[in-house]
Amino acid sequence: MKITDLKCMVIGDLHALLVRIDTDEGISGLAQIEGSKHFYLKPHVLFYKRNILEQDPTDVERVMLRIRRLGAFKPWGSSVSAIEMALWDIAGKAAGVPVYKLLGGKIRDKVRVYNGGDMPYAPSGLRLEGTSPEDYFNYASKRKKLPGQFKIMKFGIGFHSGMPWTFPEYHYGEKPLEPRAPYLYQEGLTTERGLKYTVECVKSLKEALGDEIGLALDCGPGWKVPAAIRLAKALEPLNVMWLEDLITGDYTPYTLPDIYRQVTESTSTPIHTGEQIYLRQGFQGLIEKHAVDIIGPDPCDIGGMAELKWVAEYADMHGILIAPHGVGDGPIGLAALVQVSATLPQNYIAFELPIVAAEWNGLVEGLAKDMVKNSFIEVPDKPGMGIELNEKAVRKRLKEGETYFDDE
Ligand SMILES: [Mg+2]
Repeated sequence: MKITDLKCMVIGDLHALLVRIDTDEGISGLAQIEGSKHFYLKPHVLFYKRNILEQDPTDVERVMLRIRRLGAFKPWGSSVSAIEMALWDIAGKAAGVPVYKLLGGKIRDKVRVYNGGDMPYAPSGLRLEGTSPEDYFNYASKRKKLPGQFKIMKFGIGFHSGMPWTFPEYHYGEKPLEPRAPYLYQEGLTTERGLKYTVECVKSLKEALGDEIGLALDCGPGWKVPAAIRLAKALEPLNVMWLEDLITGDYTPYTLPDIYRQVTESTSTPIHTGEQIYLRQGFQGLIEKHAVDIIGPDPCDIGGMAELKWVAEYADMHGILIAPHGVGDGPIGLAALVQVSATLPQNYIAFELPIVAAEWNGLVEGLAKDMVKNSFIEVPDKPGMGIELNEKAVRKRLKEGETYFDDE
């Protein structure tokens, strides 16, 4: 089998960049770029076309060796990751088995997911109205009632929320006001009042969720070490699941393991990072130095599913847990997360359920609207990633100027 083409298309109202690899045997593989990157990553995906044409897509690793060095931390690992996932989709379809069989086989029939916001394919009615403790309480109370019986929910606080904007003198720094540069000034030493306020908001979340739902918190990046340690210690009695991205994270192109270790060693509150990191080498320092308790790689950024599995196993060997990231991965990324998570070792906690907008209804087949039950998704047994596009419906929704995978 040979790769004959690599194509992209953008679904307009969903801002979704989809990737397809075609072969000479009529089998195609699908993948998706994490949301909000469609307008600049299409040429980046297509850049790799010349490197992979004529190759056998079922020799996934051999194809990846041709392009892996041409990627980087988020967002520049997305294209390489998408190609990897499309290759596995082809390999699975060609062999007539789900991708998890090719990654070593599943060790679980259903995978635990955690809630990072809303339900897939549901009209989004849930949002944090403000950043007061009452707002957090109300928001958590509503999310607690979501179908799916989630056992873990994640909320944004600190520099990963509106607090630095809304709370006067939240930190010793400039007020972040520039919307086109979201990370500009969004860091600094938190004031005592800012820190107390943050803790009050977390207490409100905990009050709403009780102890039947684990509370995870996305916090930054942007915290400075003394405040990060104080926050983590202050939250110790609340038994939160983890504090994510305190120091680096999101789009930070480095990991600072020594600084993370200072925080992690100072507290019993679990410390988490990793969604922006590309390749196993990107995780090496964090894992080998025991710099965090939990890593959160995203299959759409780390370099793909097999890379994520390798890193999960290496982390397990070092006593580090894994809770893969996925909030913006869309329905195809969700399918990939299910496949790889089925194969991960026992350090697996749960993956972050992508928020798939209601507008995706009818565009993708293979993932039921009510797929989450008791916080789990059953692992499908269809070949490849187990997902297909409804071509007729997708054609009607393409961005102006786009054609269906560039077909005329
Ligand atoms: Mg995050």
